[in-house]
Amino acid sequence: MQKKPYVSPILETLRQTSAEENLAEAARCAARYADGADARRVFPSPESLAGLSAFDEPLPDGPRPPLKILEMADRCGSPATVAQSGGRYFGFVCGGILPSALCARPLFDAWDQNTAMYAMSPVGAKLEEVCQRWLWELLELPEGTAAGFVSGSSTAITACLLAARNELLARQGWDAGANGLAGGPKLHVVVSEEAHSTVYRALSALGLGYAAVTRVPADEQGRIRVDRIPPMDASTLLILQAGNVNSGAFDDFNSICPMAREAGAWIHVDGAFGLWAAASPRLRHLTQGMELADSWSTDGHKTLNTPYDCGVLLCRRPETLVRAMHMTGGYIQLTEDHRDSMLYTMEMSRRARAADLWATLSGLGREGVAQLVDELCAKAAHFAELLRSAGFSIENEVVYNQVLARWRDDAATERLIAAIQDSGVLWLGGSRWHGKTVMRISVCSYRTTYADIDRCAAEMHRLAETL
Ligand SMILES: *Cc1c(COP(=O)(O)O)cnc(C)c1O
Repeated sequence: MQKKPYVSPILETLRQTSAEENLAEAARCAARYADGADARRVFPSPESLAGLSAFDEPLPDGPRPPLKILEMADRCGSPATVAQSGGRYFGFVCGGILPSALCARPLFDAWDQNTAMYAMSPVGAKLEEVCQRWLWELLELPEGTAAGFVSGSSTAITACLLAARNELLARQGWDAGANGLAGGPKLHVVVSEEAHSTVYRALSALGLGYAAVTRVPADEQGRIRVDRIPPMDASTLLILQAGNVNSGAFDDFNSICPMAREAGAWIHVDGAFGLWAAASPRLRHLTQGMELADSWSTDGHKTLNTPYDCGVLLCRRPETLVRAMHMTGGYIQLTEDHRDSMLYTMEMSRRARAADLWATLSGLGREGVAQLVDELCAKAAHFAELLRSAGFSIENEVVYNQVLARWRDDAATERLIAAIQDSGVLWLGGSRWHGKTVMRISVCSYRTTYADIDRCAAEMHRLAETL
């Protein structure tokens, strides 16, 4: 007797599910959330947070229908989200989500493309190619610069520094990819004392040692001190910053980059949110000179308001990057005439991530990107002005989208931060700046209006007076 082949009853039901009804309901639900984001408390209420305990159930024994899952996510999850997509979230450096990408996202998800190679996803490869070309133009980078699409700046920085490390050592006749670092020549890594912590983590992961580097002092705005940069040579890896994570300040690329290039150093620019200044004719002066660098890293999910995870690594010489990301395998099928995405990143399987960036950039156009960056910066300046006239001190020059504000002393500022975070009206975080506690305001969402800022500044002042 022939045995009946195994068929899972659960999968059989799932195969019979039509996407239409589910996705229509999902769209209604997502739209309700998106349109209501501004009316939400910015940080969820204690009751909403308590509602998260509904998720603490045992792993279900059997299946649950998709719409039940959607319903539960919306009922218990949505109220406990932080309204980062609304207009009054100023924490860390985040960013909203523009309608173009939000609208296209369900389609991209339905595509379910693994974009490791052209052979796996021609459309994934095409959208990466297009975004790469658009980025040269928008950010005024050298044509031919290779772009890799990754989860965020953390990964982008690590990949760029890996390419830098291997290239600098290869120039000294050492193949670090094959041999590792032990017994090889030394690199001289030069960073600003204000470098982002992800830079230090990357150095640590790459065997360069986060403490084994030369840390150059920064000026009062957090810019690397040009006069304190040590002599550089062809074994130097210099890491600069476009957009200090506290003050928003930009290193002086115009003075530093020609000098570093002359010396044969590799220059990396961490421009997670600041690189986009290059896309604005009014702010481009901030990034001038950075086009001389060897590699850059940036995020779409901050200033540009793409969905997460949208990081981009950029490397002037594609062959250097490709060599560092080197992978082989009998089953790998690369093409001659098309882009194979995995050559440019440390990931192999991944979603068609560049699609979000493509949708966002096409939704804005060159003018739209410039206006987005300009408006974020104008709103930051407005916020700073309101706070200053309400008696706050502003601790940085507001050159970009970051404002560091302080109320009286450390203790008062700390109490005020806690009160603001509890208020539900807005959200911002604290930081330490030149030994003082400050409120760190990042104006990063296209949703923020001047009315939002007026309301938030008034609320901050009211809370400060009632402390
Ligand atoms: C946010 C940020 C990073 C890290 O980027 P992720 O996308 O969060 O990984 C690195 N450098 C700077 C300056 C940043 O603002």
